[in-house]
Amino acid sequence: MLHTLKTKFGYEGFRPLQKEIIENILNHKDTLVLMPTGGGKSICYQLPALLMDGITIVISPLISLMKDQVDALLANGISAGALNSGNTDSENELVKQKCIQGTIKLLYVSPEKLLSEIDYLLKEIDIALFAVDEAHCISQWGHDFRPEYTQMGVLGHYFPKVPIVALTATADKITRQDIISQLKLKDPKVFISSFDRPNLSLRVEKGYLQKDKHKFILEFIESHKNEAGIIYCLSRKNTETIARFLEKKGVSTAVYHAGLPQHIREGAQDDFINDRVQVVCATIAFGMGIDKSNVRWVIHYNLPKSIESYYQEIGRAGRDGVPSDTVLFYSVADIIMLTKFANDSKQQQINLDKLDRMQEYAESYICRRRILLSYFGEESHQDCGNCDICKNPPERFDGSRITQMALSAIARTNESITLRLLVDILRGSQNQDVVEPGYHLIKTFGIGREIPPRDWNNYLLQMLQFGYIEIAYNEGNKLKITDSGRKVLFGKRVAELVTIIRDDKEEALTKRKKKEASLFDTKAEDLELFENLRALRKELAHKEEVPAYIIMSDKILHLIASSKPVTVEQFGTISGIGEYKQEKYGKQFTNCIKEYLNV
Ligand code: ADP
Ligand code: ZN
Repeated sequence: MLHTLKTKFGYEGFRPLQKEIIENILNHKDTLVLMPTGGGKSICYQLPALLMDGITIVISPLISLMKDQVDALLANGISAGALNSGNTDSENELVKQKCIQGTIKLLYVSPEKLLSEIDYLLKEIDIALFAVDEAHCISQWGHDFRPEYTQMGVLGHYFPKVPIVALTATADKITRQDIISQLKLKDPKVFISSFDRPNLSLRVEKGYLQKDKHKFILEFIESHKNEAGIIYCLSRKNTETIARFLEKKGVSTAVYHAGLPQHIREGAQDDFINDRVQVVCATIAFGMGIDKSNVRWVIHYNLPKSIESYYQEIGRAGRDGVPSDTVLFYSVADIIMLTKFANDSKQQQINLDKLDRMQEYAESYICRRRILLSYFGEESHQDCGNCDICKNPPERFDGSRITQMALSAIARTNESITLRLLVDILRGSQNQDVVEPGYHLIKTFGIGREIPPRDWNNYLLQMLQFGYIEIAYNEGNKLKITDSGRKVLFGKRVAELVTIIRDDKEEALTKRKKKEASLFDTKAEDLELFENLRALRKELAHKEEVPAYIIMSDKILHLIASSKPVTVEQFGTISGIGEYKQEKYGKQFTNCIKEYLNV
């Protein structure tokens, strides 16, 4: 096993559980694998496929996923093919022939193709193993339900001797049980690996106005030069607005949402995968089927509707294990909108509860990763050190005066104003909404002028969270003062607030970059060399017509840049470089390094 791992995939050792999973499969047992995105599920069936006699059939829901996997296998010199409706008939014929001749080790099929071939091709070939990828698609409870998946329970009937391995990144219990019962897995061994993704930094930004968000995003992208990222928005309109803004600023950007024609969507996805655009502004329609391993950051322009969605979406960053950044913007407007969606939905209570948990996460003042892990039922015993709370532990101060300003303005307008109007009044804005009802005449008008709007939004979120005010969703989202808010207003109680840390952009950035560098041992790595290697990779990708990350992941590229191998032999010792890639690319990469080093 270890030998094959090294020579075919170029890895020195197994990640947690991989070895146990592979052994279970090699013992012809049914297996269920729950591993987070980027955890290394593919090896769990690809390696047994190489060690078993016959062909491993991999069932996969999306053509783009199949293509990526097949390309990655071919890039490692492993024979693989795919049967699906995206191929021409003659392409499919060729693949079938190879199956019958036994010259393919892994065959990827869509569930439809699997069923239609069950009496034909599958009967003629020697099947070693069935691997059901994205197995949660079988469950109606999951988020990616695919009816075609539910018919795969027949596999055990047709092929009683062939073991099945089902793999998914969805952790919850219902889905897990659903997979086992629907696939009719026989006494399966279930492997659950940690869902922690320590390479993803977590950060929440509160109370930004749209223009502040845009400014933030632009600076963020400037600090992530050439690094691919996704911006998730709640509305289609927002995706387009941001994309236009970024394009104007010279950032290459694509838009992706369900309202666009298919060819536009496919084009956007393709451009992103092949590094022709740096940024995709998308609704949650984007992502499934994106196997791109070098997504370096994900921004949530709006609050997601649940922690599951959030975790899945940020999980699209850093699949290669390289440090990647995530930012979540959070505002009251989002809460109002999402509460409305949840109220209008079929499973109203469930969705409201999920939203509550999401909101708690965004408002938390304890390590965010601990909240996520506990949400997924995992214990964690220490703070992560890689979230905004850990990096800047919140400090509290006596915020009674600030809170009183807000409460007093709410009281003097008879609890009939929204949050936005409240900020306008506190800041002394002379706009129509303020002046018409005469709010510019109340005593608290302009009393909070010295506090910028963004901070007001932040403080007001805190007041909501600490329970001094509440939003009457059923009364046009007007603000109401709670009992404990009244105590603050009348000076009977101290209102603690959390200090807003305006992290000086420059300073924070260099600090972070330094931290990343140490995480990665990039001390020995030259940025210039990395860029040269990246350019070489791009050139090769273009020649071979595959995405750059298929040639080599960012992680491997970083390793090359820091260890600077100058012989093909040294090149072969790099983690992720198997014999095939060593042979194929060794010369070009070492030449590039030698040229750089002038040796
Ligand atoms: P998943 O399918 O679980 O999202 P992948 O199978 O695509 O994840 O693996 C994620 C990344 O981890 C890939 O770049 C893969 O090559 C790498 N990887 C997997 N197993 C190992 C290992 N044992 N050692 C080093 N890297 C690994
Ligand atoms: Zn933390």
